[in-house]
Amino acid sequence: MCGILALYSNQLKPISIDLYNMFQLLQHRGQDGSGIVTSNLKSYYTTYSLGAIKNLSINNNISKLYGHIGLAHNRYPTSGKSNKLDLLQPWKIYNKQNNNIYYLAFNGTLSTKRQNINEYKIFNNIIGNEISIGNGLKKLLNTIPGTYSLIIMSKDSLYITRDLYGIRPLIIAKDNDKWIISSETCVLQNNCETIFEVNPGEIIRINSSGLEYIFRFKPKNQSSFCIFEYIYFSRPDSILESTNEVYKVRVELGKQLAIECKKNTELLKADYVIGVPNSSVPHAIGFSQEIGIPYCSAFIRNNTHRTFILSDQKSRKEQVSLKFSCLPLILKNKSVIIIDDSIVRGNTITHLVKLLRNRECNKIHVAIASPPIINQCYMGMDITTPENLIAHNKNIQEIKKFINVDSLTYLSLSGLIQVQYPKSNYCTACLSGNYPKGLLDW
Ligand code: 5GP
Ligand code: MG
Repeated sequence: MCGILALYSNQLKPISIDLYNMFQLLQHRGQDGSGIVTSNLKSYYTTYSLGAIKNLSINNNISKLYGHIGLAHNRYPTSGKSNKLDLLQPWKIYNKQNNNIYYLAFNGTLSTKRQNINEYKIFNNIIGNEISIGNGLKKLLNTIPGTYSLIIMSKDSLYITRDLYGIRPLIIAKDNDKWIISSETCVLQNNCETIFEVNPGEIIRINSSGLEYIFRFKPKNQSSFCIFEYIYFSRPDSILESTNEVYKVRVELGKQLAIECKKNTELLKADYVIGVPNSSVPHAIGFSQEIGIPYCSAFIRNNTHRTFILSDQKSRKEQVSLKFSCLPLILKNKSVIIIDDSIVRGNTITHLVKLLRNRECNKIHVAIASPPIINQCYMGMDITTPENLIAHNKNIQEIKKFINVDSLTYLSLSGLIQVQYPKSNYCTACLSGNYPKGLLDW
């Protein structure tokens, strides 16, 4: 994943505090570490820190990041080791043609089946060898398919682009005198007069002359926006693809899942529908509405961090067991349906079922608001080795047995398509094996 955010104040007002505050609303997109760079036309000011975004302010005074332009990035490790300070973005780019320094931040992955790609080197070579950033970005879009929602900052301008497939989100908004460029709209707490998507293949510059489209490449025929942004990644209060409120899509996915579960007569006898906080609560609400079984907030979340984002399996398992508690009395002898948005490795669901068994639940059904994840993602999700995916190795009956439940239902791919596809074309590679054409061949 990763989150990116940039601000530009037309009135040359300091932006660092606003940038830092808004940036916290992108914490869900990565918690490995983060960085901020600002400029007051004369100099750059930078700060980087491992861990949560708020760590940036522990050793640094954010108000000392001077200037009216700023760029922020938080990292979710899809390549390279996590917990490495020097991997944190924004990355410094040195341009040999004009001797200028720039900063670059992106969300995505330079996707290829080749091993050992050094993303920093690729960007630095391309952007650092062209006379202007506009030319560098044109060359990038021309030569590297990849997944990148990307912002480059110079001392006086912001350059913004999105790969030709449009896999990760990126929006631009105007709030009075301020331009805001963000991975998600959830950072916009004011009513902005203008909000629009950066379309795949567009190269945009913002500076004292305003906003200008430098170049527009023809996007690939079918856009390939990541379906998982809807299922799990994005915040429910974000609007994706201009009109789709993530919360509402999740409720619809839950309803469709309920329709598909109605043939299971045992499941229909359940006493409660239980969502897994936080990400699958909307799915569970939709499920409960459609199936007509009351919702119960049986799981209590103990901390705010996303556990999957941890980068090794041992720490993920430890964190999952600390992450959830369960109501002590109300579930005894009851039948329940757990709704989660997805199963990746199976750590979360296995632990939750154990918690319910300890509370002496009668029957435990599990329904998942996405199809089984069976394939590797090369587009920015940390789903790298198929061997780690529970659904890559086991069929649904085997998973049901492994997690020890009375029934297990996944949303069908056709059900997912019914809810979301009429609106656009999506990348469903992790669920279907259909990778965007040409994306990995370079
Ligand atoms: P598992 O525990 O099966 O490995 O992961 C599934 C849980 O992690 C689900 O509760 C889901 O909400 C969340 N999840 C699913 N996909 C992703 C992902 O790509 N990244 C992160 N951070 N979490 C995920
Ligand atoms: Mg979850």
